[in-house]
Amino acid sequence: MPELPEVEITKKTLKKYVEHQYITDIKINNYNLRYKINKNFKKNLLGKKINKITRRSKYLIFHLYDKNFFILHLGMSGRVLVKQNKIRGLIDTSFYASTLPIDKHNHIYLIFKKSTVVYNDTRRFGFIKYYTATEFKNCSHLSKLGVEPLSDELNFSFFKRNIIRFNKSIKNTLMDQSFICGLGNIYVNEALFLSKINPNRSSQALHEKEIKVLINYIKKILKKSISMGGSSIKDFHNSEGKFGNFQNTFKVYGQENKKCVRLNCTGFIKKSITSGRATFFCTKCQSE
Ligand SMILES: [Zn+2]
Repeated sequence: MPELPEVEITKKTLKKYVEHQYITDIKINNYNLRYKINKNFKKNLLGKKINKITRRSKYLIFHLYDKNFFILHLGMSGRVLVKQNKIRGLIDTSFYASTLPIDKHNHIYLIFKKSTVVYNDTRRFGFIKYYTATEFKNCSHLSKLGVEPLSDELNFSFFKRNIIRFNKSIKNTLMDQSFICGLGNIYVNEALFLSKINPNRSSQALHEKEIKVLINYIKKILKKSISMGGSSIKDFHNSEGKFGNFQNTFKVYGQENKKCVRLNCTGFIKKSITSGRATFFCTKCQSE
């Protein structure tokens, strides 16, 4: 499932190809994504020029020159592919992806003068939606999101001030998108391990020092993953088809029964299921 670093990498890749470009054509093969694509989607976007692409949590936001927007969410298995046209204007039929996605899962083609952006999604939990400038102000997907983990807004005083709202384990609190947005299961497990905090600890029982350490590791691990090209477990490849390497550095995620990698720790990684999700932690250095 794409998490924040993956979406950030998709954004960075797309910026190179579509910012300041006109959408010259749109082809929709399947309207039935998580939300049915609006029948006016094509009409609204045809001939429009993209000003910039930003990211909020796991949403890609396309800002149009006419001040309107469309947003893209990759869901569980969505991925964006870019086909670059050949110099003479012919479309290069091969994707950059080293492993070709299956064509039948190509649902949307956004066609630009020099390239084509393809939205491919096996499970179709992702979605794309158009908003006028006015509608965008009340976009329900974005309005309830918490702070961006990589922004300065995520700091000790924010954490301390807001943690009192969450009467649950620190694992579940970090997964709560209304607190910090964009963190998913992988990075929450990893950040808690690095911080030596047991995932089942009550959020409100954390000491000030632990909060500071945790914030530091949340930011660090996301930055590291972005710099390594994202985590390509299961469904993810970055837009140029290179595999991310970050999953090779997971210390607890998917590492059950292995010996803890922390120097001088004799513990083992345990997997438990909490709130329907897998939690991984070291029995020793993250003991309660
Ligand atoms: Zn350990």
